[in-house]
Amino acid sequence: MPLIVHSKSTEKFIDDWTYDRTMLVRDKPDKHIADLENTENIVIAIGGGSVIDTAKILCRNPAIAVPTTFSGASRTKHAVYWYHGRKININTKKPITICKPEYQETLPKEIRNYSLCDCLCHAIEASISNRATKLSDYCARMSIELLGKNKPADSLNASFLAGDAIEITGTNVIHALSYPITSLYGISHGKALAFLLPRVVNYLYDREIEVQFLENVELDINIEKVIDEALTYKKIYESRRLVNKRILMELLK
Ligand SMILES: [Zn+2]
Repeated sequence: MPLIVHSKSTEKFIDDWTYDRTMLVRDKPDKHIADLENTENIVIAIGGGSVIDTAKILCRNPAIAVPTTFSGASRTKHAVYWYHGRKININTKKPITICKPEYQETLPKEIRNYSLCDCLCHAIEASISNRATKLSDYCARMSIELLGKNKPADSLNASFLAGDAIEITGTNVIHALSYPITSLYGISHGKALAFLLPRVVNYLYDREIEVQFLENVELDINIEKVIDEALTYKKIYESRRLVNKRILMELLK
């Protein structure tokens, strides 16, 4: 019988579904979740990236994902978990996505904006990736166009397209910089990206984009330490733009 995986804020939706057991996800998947890999037959995930990644790891079959944010996690075959401050990829089955745009209407504005920022980073990083293909370029471009409309159903589609794009290319420089901000300072994925994106976007992306939902985020962090750690992630070099310590220090100072 199905296991429903949810967060505190998506608990209110679980009775729309048939289930046998529930699991509350409070944080990003960790070693404890990785140790439970492929132990469930049917898992329904209602939530954002951490909830969907947890379901992908637990389920030996494709999980059923009902995204409530714009992480794009329901569109990719890999999940991530964190172990001793490092992000580790794990191969899973691509979930079956069910769209419930009404579930996103109750998202707090700040979480919604950080999540839209995550989606935009996925699209931008796919479009500057040296692993880009015609299909990933198309998905990334469409995603950015839909995000510009800033309407709920368009934003959900934008998140799927951005997820499809990074499924092909992977992420690169912005996400690589975000991981140490999250692991060293406990700052959420979306907030770390909202800090980084406006500072690096003009260098990385050669077209002007207007980001209506981004407010200025200031973080009290050691930039040099973050950059040194980010440069140890191989994916940071998978962007078509040159990245090195000097350039990143200049952008993030
Ligand atoms: Zn992301």
